[in-house]
Amino acid sequence: MIRLSFHGAAGQVTGSMHLLEAAGGRFLLDAGLFQGHRAEARELNLRLPFDPRRVDGIVLSHAHIDHSGRLPLLVRNGFHGPIHATPATRDLCAVMLPDSAHIQEKDFEFLQRRDKAGEQSEPLYSLADAVATQDLMVGVPYRRITHLRKHLAFEFLDAGHILGSASVDIRITEAGSHRLVFSGDIGRSGLPIVRDPDPPSGPVDTLIVEATYADRKHESVADAEERLAEAVRRVAARGGKVLVPAFALGRVQELVYSLHQLWRARKIPEIPIYVDSPLAVDVTTVFRMHPEIFDQREHLIASESRLFDFPLVRYVRTVEESKALDTSPGPMVIAAASGMAESGRILHHLAHGIGDHRNLVLFVGFQAEHTLGRRIKDGANPVRIFGDELPVRAEVQSIDGYSAHADRGELLAWVRRLGGPIRRAFVVHGEASALEAMAKALKEAGVHDVRIPRLGESFDL
Ligand SMILES: [Zn+2]
Repeated sequence: MIRLSFHGAAGQVTGSMHLLEAAGGRFLLDAGLFQGHRAEARELNLRLPFDPRRVDGIVLSHAHIDHSGRLPLLVRNGFHGPIHATPATRDLCAVMLPDSAHIQEKDFEFLQRRDKAGEQSEPLYSLADAVATQDLMVGVPYRRITHLRKHLAFEFLDAGHILGSASVDIRITEAGSHRLVFSGDIGRSGLPIVRDPDPPSGPVDTLIVEATYADRKHESVADAEERLAEAVRRVAARGGKVLVPAFALGRVQELVYSLHQLWRARKIPEIPIYVDSPLAVDVTTVFRMHPEIFDQREHLIASESRLFDFPLVRYVRTVEESKALDTSPGPMVIAAASGMAESGRILHHLAHGIGDHRNLVLFVGFQAEHTLGRRIKDGANPVRIFGDELPVRAEVQSIDGYSAHADRGELLAWVRRLGGPIRRAFVVHGEASALEAMAKALKEAGVHDVRIPRLGESFDL
């Protein structure tokens, strides 16, 4: 019997976690955190639908928190099996999960102050749980077949999404052969630093595929770079600040890389670029540890030590330095977490800067529904930050070309490159319109059995 149950990213974007029961064992694909509205997300995260002590192992697609952030919760509740991840994902988790534990503690304080913590008397998990999780991580390089059990093996392939990201190709050989492919998050072709996606090939019995941007088309990476250069020149000329809410993992490094290239090509003026996120600084250190999986290998390795360092860029760690940026005059670029402007230092910069017409709020990543980033992007005015209604006078711009997610055409190209027939597909990781667009496209491509699983739904394969 092979059974698949969807315990996250099912009808939504966050919380990626799928339980595979096969070959007499129980394995999770991802263990991501539900994010968004704090109290609701907390309820979802706390409701573990199985006993973690009875899970034999975990296969992790990549280090983004919506794919990895429930790992310490599982460990806290008794999971003690191996967590398989690429070496870069393992090393990224060593900085991402302790940061997530810190956020859990802050969120818990916030809910307690508002009396919304419910019966729970403690944060979702602690730093100690994050550290214990790291001890269970097993590094598995791309394209190395690894046995989870006697009749169950998997292989990681590069998903081209962020450093270390993988699609998972699983073979179950008990009572016949069954091939299950889990896409993970699929990246774009031509993104800086990471390689292009490398999908598995051949017939697939069961496909689990993401759909984040299945209803959209992105501009090209080259166009994105041009627009970034234009934006920086325009704002610099009027003495303003470019405020970029950016994910510490992925977006920040690509942005710095692009700005470095633009500066070398003399396409942007000499203005300071601040990376204001201790997590982004730590993540950048992990990037430096893994040049072996960078794109354009020789070229990048040759200049690897300076890839993220050039005269204009400054990495900000302390709160004092961060605050000083708000009172310093422009022009400057500030990239700070969080990527959807829900928390983190970007909130302080927005609170200070969103009312100044010289400034630009620049979005380079996905902005989920119900986030401050999405409200600003959609033109809300005024916006509420730290309890104050603030008028939006700054310019607002989005550059989708830096998205780490494949757009509609790229998702379908990835599916086509699988080559063989697909017997059954489950569409996950998207808002309703994206999920439906992907399901429709798969049917048009000849996949007869396509489903959009609901949270908690199980299927016998
Ligand atoms: Zn991701």
